[in-house]
Amino acid sequence: MTATRIIEASDENYKEAVKAACELLAAGEVVALPTETVYGLAANALDAASVAKVFSVKERPTFDPLIVHVSTRAELSRVAIVPDGIKHTVEKLLNAFWPGPLTLILPKHPDIPDLVTSGLPTLAVRQSANKIFRAVGKELGQPLAAPSANRFGRISPTSAHAVRQELDGRIPLIVDGGACSEGLESTIIHITAGEKRPTITILRPGPVTKEMLQNFGKIERPKKSRDPGSPCAPGMLESHYAPRTPLILLENADDFRPETGKKYGLLSYTGEPGKGYTGLYPWTIIEALSPGNGKLPEAALRLFHVLRKLDDAGLDCIFAEPVSEVGLGVAVMDRLRRASKQV
Ligand code: AMP
Ligand code: MG
Repeated sequence: MTATRIIEASDENYKEAVKAACELLAAGEVVALPTETVYGLAANALDAASVAKVFSVKERPTFDPLIVHVSTRAELSRVAIVPDGIKHTVEKLLNAFWPGPLTLILPKHPDIPDLVTSGLPTLAVRQSANKIFRAVGKELGQPLAAPSANRFGRISPTSAHAVRQELDGRIPLIVDGGACSEGLESTIIHITAGEKRPTITILRPGPVTKEMLQNFGKIERPKKSRDPGSPCAPGMLESHYAPRTPLILLENADDFRPETGKKYGLLSYTGEPGKGYTGLYPWTIIEALSPGNGKLPEAALRLFHVLRKLDDAGLDCIFAEPVSEVGLGVAVMDRLRRASKQV
C-alpha cells in the first residue's frame, strides 16, 4: 500500500506539480496525469521496469498494448518510424490534429520495450494537448507510456477524484488538472498507402470523428477480430469501460423486461420528461448525458462521469438509451456497447 498524494496543478503551483511528477517518473515510478481525453497513468516509455508497473497497478493483461505520448513532434522519431509511403498523410494529419486526441499506429522504434506494444511490431502514439502532461514529458526528456488511469476493464477516469476511486493506495501521485476537456479516449487510426488515396482505418472511434478524417483518406472500420494477438484486436476488446453495476444498452425499448422489486437507473440522452425512455419506467434515478436539448459533444464529455455516478447509486441495473450514431455519437455508442451486457 502506497500513500497516494494529490497535487492540484493550479497556475501558481503548476511547476511544483510538474517537478514532483518528474522526480517520481525519473525514479521509475508511475504517476497519474491529466490529459484532454481522460486521466493517464504515466511511466517512462523507454524503461521496461516502469512500464511493467503500469500493467501491474492497472491489473492490465500484457496483451493490451499502451499508448505512448510524445511531448514534441521531433520526439516521434525516437519512438516510431514513419514509412515513406504514408509520410505525407501523417504530416497532414499531425498538422491538423496534434497536439490532440488522435493516436496513430506506426511501426515501432527498436528502443521501445516490447512490453509497451505487447510484442506487436507497431506502436500507438499521440501528442497530448494538455499542457501539464506535455510539460512533464518535456522536463523528463522522455516519451511517456500512459493508458487510462483506471483498473483494467473499468470506467476511464475524467477527474482526479475518479482516479483516486480507481487507484488510491496503488500509486504515489495524482496531479489534479481539473476535469478533462474531451472526456473520451483518443481516436486510434491505422494508415495504409493506396494508389490514389491512403486508407485510414479507425480502430477506436473517439473525439476526432470519421467526418473530420475523411478529407485525409478513405475511411474504414476494422473487420471484427477476437484474436487478442492480432494488431487490430487491442482497443477493440469487446468488454471494456464497464461499471460494476450491470449496464444494458437498450437499443430497442421493446426489449425492456423489468423484474419486480429491482432498482433501475436510466442513462438518458437529454433526461427531458416525455423524451427517450424517461417515461418507460419509474426509474430510481435518471442521469442525463446532455440535459435539455441534447448535444453530442456534451454527451461525450460527460459519459464516463455520469456512468460513475450511476455506478455509485446502489442500483441493480443501469439501462442506457442509444444516441444517434453520427459525429461523436459513434464513439459514445462504441463505449456504451462495450460497457453493456448483451440483451
Ligand atoms: P488506453 O490508453 O487504456 O485507452 O488503451 C490503449 C489502447 O491503444 C489499447 O487498448 C489498444 O487498443 C490501443 N493500441 C495500443 N497499441 C496498439 C497497436 N500497436 N495496435 C493497435 N492498437 C493499439
Ligand atoms: Mg483504458
